[in-house]
Amino acid sequence: MSIVTRFAPSPTGYLHLGHAASALFAWRQAREAGGRFLLRLEDIDPTRCRPEYAAGILEDLAWLGLDWDGPVRVQSEHLAEYRAVLDALGARGLVYPCFCTRAAIQREVAEAAAAPHAPDGSLRYPGTCRGLSADERRSRIAAGAPHALRLDVEAAIREVGTPLSFAEAGRGRIVCTPEQFGDVVLARRDAPASYHLCVTHDDALQGVTLVTRGIDLLPATHLHRLLQALMGWPEPAYAHHRLLIDASGRRLAKRDRAATLRALRAEGCTPEAVRGLAQSQ
Ligand code: GLU
Repeated sequence: MSIVTRFAPSPTGYLHLGHAASALFAWRQAREAGGRFLLRLEDIDPTRCRPEYAAGILEDLAWLGLDWDGPVRVQSEHLAEYRAVLDALGARGLVYPCFCTRAAIQREVAEAAAAPHAPDGSLRYPGTCRGLSADERRSRIAAGAPHALRLDVEAAIREVGTPLSFAEAGRGRIVCTPEQFGDVVLARRDAPASYHLCVTHDDALQGVTLVTRGIDLLPATHLHRLLQALMGWPEPAYAHHRLLIDASGRRLAKRDRAATLRALRAEGCTPEAVRGLAQSQ
């Protein structure tokens, strides 16, 4: 089987050294095995993504010397495909509308005895809207109440039936515990689909066989396997890599303007030097 990897940045800022390291990691895995390397722009969040960042990402990767196979997939151009997945899960009774505001969830979480956060740091939803009747849901939606769509994770686990796991490079199989997340959002009130839904849909559609990304996203893989199993999508292998850290030991983030590839380039750094820095840790 030929290997297919991808780099899937969200254009919410310019690429920094950490992204360069991640892109190079995926690119090398593909190129060294004679496989394919894909580029995907995960620009599903209209409140944070900007076209100038998307253009900047393509320019910075090309400057770095990375080439990708086939056209760039731009998620915002495929909303109907994500909608179809939501509809399919909805028809199976696995998705429900959630009318709670963030403040209401915070209040409820504070009152509940359960652990407040999911493994990815998000608030663990206590399931408030799961029990609303079909009539109540319909009338609130008809009245124009803003709502998100959540996955009923316990029902989804029951439907899948068998325990899930994933193959992580160097660690063997990791058993999935998607219930730690609570009922995750699959479509936000202000964004048509969530990261979890789009990333799993696209990895399946694009035939990605090895998902490489930062270790910070490893917890999300527990959920991704659940979505893959529900939708009958193939299971890729996974390789979550270490994150680059700055001189004070903090992970690099988009707020660290000095480490952006454009800033380094403006200072006279060559692509070779940046590749060296990105692979230095
Ligand atoms: N778009 C995600 C990000 O920029 C990465 C998605 C992934 O590699 O799974 O954090």
